[in-house]
Amino acid sequence: MGGTFNPPHNGHILAAEHVRQALGLDRVLFIPTNLPPHKRLPDGSATTEQRCDMVRLMVAPYDWAVFSDIEVRRGGASYTVDTLRALHQKGYDNLTLIVGTDMLMSFDRCWRAPEEIVRLADLAVVARDTHDRPVLRRKAILLEKKMHAHISLIDCPVLTISSTEVRRRGIFEEMTPPPVAAYIRKNRLYQKGSE
Ligand code: ATP
Ligand code: MG
Repeated sequence: MGGTFNPPHNGHILAAEHVRQALGLDRVLFIPTNLPPHKRLPDGSATTEQRCDMVRLMVAPYDWAVFSDIEVRRGGASYTVDTLRALHQKGYDNLTLIVGTDMLMSFDRCWRAPEEIVRLADLAVVARDTHDRPVLRRKAILLEKKMHAHISLIDCPVLTISSTEVRRRGIFEEMTPPPVAAYIRKNRLYQKGSE
């Protein structure tokens, strides 16, 4: 599961846990982007190092959840296809890319080398809102036809939260794991006025 994790929140860990259980995955790697290709990190964002610290804190209680700095160490713009290639070369040959609604909807339009991505990994998709499900189903069928993607739509409870909302509303204790909320407070991240 890749993301900016600015900050990581309960929706990320909950989605990953449901996908892991539904598909019987051994591990879920949480991979913070170095530079996201499709969005500018807003003013007042955490630094890359802080985003990594927070992901480490989020995964610590779970033996199946692993932090990976593969994109940060590679540097530059982070493209998922490069990450999947690198993981493949390291011997991960049964990969599942976990994405939320927004990422599946933009997959064939905005991502680099989507055809190669679906050759390197299956996709597991989690709705970010229950209303997303019909449109996700249609999109999955289209991508399966168009590029022979293997896509599992995971039917699980949804948390309709985003990092943007966490930053804007400053609702850290409610929406991020306690050690992440404590880290945000201690480092005075996302003070009033953050986008
Ligand atoms: P931002 O608002 O800053 O874009 P975000 O909440 O969308 O943050 P990202 O780091 O951009 O979080 O997302 C990483 C991955 O997690 C993406 O595939 C995204 O679709 C997915 N995701 C994010 N929030 C949720 C959620 N509440 N439920 C399920 N998947 C989610
Ligand atoms: Mg997002």
